[in-house]
Amino acid sequence: MSKIDLSRVDFETLVIHAGQTPDPNYGALATPIYQTSTFCFDTVEEGAGKFAQEIPGFVYSRGGNPTTRALELKCAAIEGAEDAVAAASGMGAVGAVMTAFLRPGDHAIFDLAVYGGTNHMASKNLPDMGVEVSRVDTGDVEALKAAIRPNTKMIYFETPNNPMMKVTDIRAVKAAAGPGIRVVVDGTFAPPPMQHALALGADIVLHSVTKYINGHGDVLGGIVAGKAEDIKTIRANSITKINGCPPAPFNSYLVLRGMKTLALRIRRHCANAMEVARYLEESPFVKAVYYPGLESHPQHELAKRQMEEGLFGGMLSFELKDDVKGLSSFEAGKKLVNSLKIPAIAVSLGDPDTLIEHPASMTHMAVSKEDRLAAGITDGLIRLSVGLESAKDLIADFQQAFSAL
Ligand SMILES: *Cc1c(COP(=O)(O)O)cnc(C)c1O
Repeated sequence: MSKIDLSRVDFETLVIHAGQTPDPNYGALATPIYQTSTFCFDTVEEGAGKFAQEIPGFVYSRGGNPTTRALELKCAAIEGAEDAVAAASGMGAVGAVMTAFLRPGDHAIFDLAVYGGTNHMASKNLPDMGVEVSRVDTGDVEALKAAIRPNTKMIYFETPNNPMMKVTDIRAVKAAAGPGIRVVVDGTFAPPPMQHALALGADIVLHSVTKYINGHGDVLGGIVAGKAEDIKTIRANSITKINGCPPAPFNSYLVLRGMKTLALRIRRHCANAMEVARYLEESPFVKAVYYPGLESHPQHELAKRQMEEGLFGGMLSFELKDDVKGLSSFEAGKKLVNSLKIPAIAVSLGDPDTLIEHPASMTHMAVSKEDRLAAGITDGLIRLSVGLESAKDLIADFQQAFSAL
């Protein structure tokens, strides 16, 4: 047990200390990597007790591992959740929630624009398994209420979402859903301290740990946090059985390491993104910038209420004007991206390095053009994951790339 009363500390202290105490074997301060598949028992009786979960401890790493458990406890603490369970990837986490709670004949509502892999689950995998799926703009509470049926079991959305940074009102969705429908928030774009989805009424919050929570671009991981009973169901049915997707202990160690600087990193990502967003908004070549921190963002007031401490994330999208030096916004966008020197052309987000990508040909290639346009994802849209470099250097890079158009 920690000597620190973690219920009374600031986020900076919580994220460093929660879930981790010196290792009982040798006092190692850094949580050791328990790189083992199985755990030994002194006696048959001890084994039986651990299998029956009457004696606490570990049996086999698919069901639980000390390094991964430290990560789960840390994530539960920062989300203010009763418990959390880790997965080998963000999609592992998404799939685990679906397979734990949706059955043939159930109905689930998904926002119009969700992450590509989740979109595939909603449009293909779940219907194949006999789950009815409706797609609704979860920002439109009346449309959401109209879509709810007697067999609705889940409402699922991302906030801010990918790649338009649409902000959905978590409180309003939970109020519309009532107690019988699980509200599941993918909070990947806004991990704590930016946003606490459970405190706003979500039943379950999940993250692709691959992104900000690990924050170093070197691990795939996922986490699901919520009520102890729900987490137990997800762990028992999905993570250890149907999906069989716990993280490797080494990856859990890397994420624990990355999380030590989560508070510092998030503040810097957000400050950099705000500066770059303001710069782009003032550029004569730019038609629109989508960033929840800008007054021009359609849900800026909601973002101010729902996202904390003026932290609006490190993600933004923008679109160039048509006819920039005779080019279409698509052609000009391609030329701009190719001329930038600091941002790497890559999907993913939340890395120390700034990443830039073109949703229509990359992350959202598999989404039909009609659905893409309905979600506002035009051919000219460019998505930027603002990294931890100097904002001044990033802006200077944009200046040189604009002048090369
Ligand atoms: C990346 C991402 C996922 C999937 O996570 P992986 O770790 O790549 O499996 C899910 N949701 C969102 C919003 C993401 O950005």
